[in-house]
Amino acid sequence: MEKFLVDLHTHTTFSHDGRDSAEKMVSEAQKRGIAFYGVSDHFDYDYDVSLMDEAEYKATKNGDVDEYFHALRHVQEDYAGVVNVIVGAEFGYSDDENVKRQYMETYEKYRPDYVINSVHGMGGRDFARFTFTQEKKEVYGKYLRLVRRSLDAPYPYDIVGHIGYIARYVPYEDRTFSLEEFGAEIDDVLQTIIRKGKILEVNTANKNLENKTLPAWHIVKRYYELGGRKVSFGSDAHFVERIADKWEETSAKLKEIGFTHITVPCRGEHIKVEL
Ligand SMILES: [Zn+2]
Ligand SMILES: [Zn+2]
Repeated sequence: MEKFLVDLHTHTTFSHDGRDSAEKMVSEAQKRGIAFYGVSDHFDYDYDVSLMDEAEYKATKNGDVDEYFHALRHVQEDYAGVVNVIVGAEFGYSDDENVKRQYMETYEKYRPDYVINSVHGMGGRDFARFTFTQEKKEVYGKYLRLVRRSLDAPYPYDIVGHIGYIARYVPYEDRTFSLEEFGAEIDDVLQTIIRKGKILEVNTANKNLENKTLPAWHIVKRYYELGGRKVSFGSDAHFVERIADKWEETSAKLKEIGFTHITVPCRGEHIKVEL
């Protein structure tokens, strides 16, 4: 195992919310000395277009899939031996069987090097567009059970993205997923990740979350206690300035908990990179 800088969750202009091109992002990754750079643009087949008005549709529409993989494979080749560009995808999970089938088809057709499976919403809408009227106990319980079902997705995936994402948008004063209140659901999720050999992401994009990671540190610790050893680091950068954001403090904290390496997935293989 060797020590390297890693960022496994980033976006480009292919994503509706990405600001900088793949070329610009990877060139910046090279400047920062990143050894493993994962590009995981959005595939939001979970969003229900029929629920959207024109503006929302435009704001959530991603680029052309053919073009994405074509362009990214070129960037990967251009940087071979300089930066290990890992060409991935972030699949927004949905219970809908048709949506799952679409992800499967995309996977089969394009064979991304890795997949991040993320829960962004429910019933075809992103949590960012929800009005939460129910109690936290109910909403968080529902969310955690959805995350648990996402782990049984039929398509291959490697990383479980940003657990706790919903906390960015809820109106509750205390937005913590405490182990006292949600211990059973959280343990079920973490134990399933371990049993299936998946990788738990530590995501440092903490919009609205007062500098917290997703999942919060007490959940990452709990994962370690339960025997989980596979973690990934993701800045979730949508523009160059955020690439590898908070890498130093996050890797230090991971080491403090006991983790010895970041797990980098690539074409079914899990590469260990020393922390
Ligand atoms: Zn995401
Ligand atoms: Zn993302």
